Amino acid sequence: MKINEIQGNLNNIEIKVKILSVDKREISTSKGDTVYYYGLVGDDTGVLPYTAWEFPAPIKAGDVVQVKYAKTKLYNDRIRLYFDSKTELLLKPGEEMDVKNTYKEVKLMDLSTKSPFVAVTGKISNMSGKEYNKAGKTLTIYNGFIEDDTSKVRISSFGKPLENGKIYRLVGAKVSEFNRQLEISIGDKTEVFIENEDMDFERYYKLFEVDNPAGGITIIGFIITLGTKSGIIKRCSECNKPLSTGVCPDHPDKPTKLDIFSYFTLDDGTKYIQCIAGKKAIMPFIGVKEEELPRYAGEIYKMLEDKLYGHAVKVNADFIKNDGDLSLRVNSIENVEKEDIRKDIELNQ
Ligand SMILES: [Zn+2]
Repeated sequence: MKINEIQGNLNNIEIKVKILSVDKREISTSKGDTVYYYGLVGDDTGVLPYTAWEFPAPIKAGDVVQVKYAKTKLYNDRIRLYFDSKTELLLKPGEEMDVKNTYKEVKLMDLSTKSPFVAVTGKISNMSGKEYNKAGKTLTIYNGFIEDDTSKVRISSFGKPLENGKIYRLVGAKVSEFNRQLEISIGDKTEVFIENEDMDFERYYKLFEVDNPAGGITIIGFIITLGTKSGIIKRCSECNKPLSTGVCPDHPDKPTKLDIFSYFTLDDGTKYIQCIAGKKAIMPFIGVKEEELPRYAGEIYKMLEDKLYGHAVKVNADFIKNDGDLSLRVNSIENVEKEDIRKDIELNQ
């Protein structure tokens, strides 16, 4: 049997497929915690998602397997293959199989402009549309974020809205670099599927594990230096440029606004990295509101030093590219107990 011949709910299917991806999920049921596997399989006629309650450990993505006694079910208009305790998965070592029209399935952490067209699966958030004109037509571009269990990146979609909170599989999405980060865009040729699997996002990493500009990552570490220029700066309210003289050369009539930022070095026991944090991260952390900034102008460096320097913190941040190196743009900071971080470091040594 071939994938394109499968229709509806079938039992005892025998089919030879290539395993394209293997993901694992733990769930709690009334009978206790259990694990299942899911992913995609393909052959020269198509690609199907599967769910496996049992999955032989040596089988991995890229392997060709002979499947016996599998089932299919139609679920939300999509056929899914099920492997249970009756199913036999026989590995075909060394065997190659062409898969129809497939893009490499990648995790968001592994995006690279070197392979610019990929298939990704992730949850959409903060997506909103913006109209623009092209050749006399009004078109809409949708911008937001997509995240999986490894990273969170920007996504843009030309004409096709994606719903916030839903999981999509995007086949033939394009990877590009913008603002020193990687992002994904979907266009006319991208195939868009709604997925049913929910996803959990606990993206804790050690610094040495990350070599890509991944987003929405949690790192725990000590702040070992604090940049002396950290503090309050003035910006033009029109163009947002930082102003050293207090007046914007391009908009001298516009009012200025105060902003706060901080540079520091974070060390997690595996590596250290330069971080920059703006007011969205700093103000809640030191407990100062925007309208209170003028009042604290003189003492803000001392406040930052007291709360940051030498402290153990948990940051949520985006990695950004800096001339071949990575730095962190911090989205939020919170304190952690030194005991927790010591344990964390010991466990990883
Ligand atoms: Zn300006």
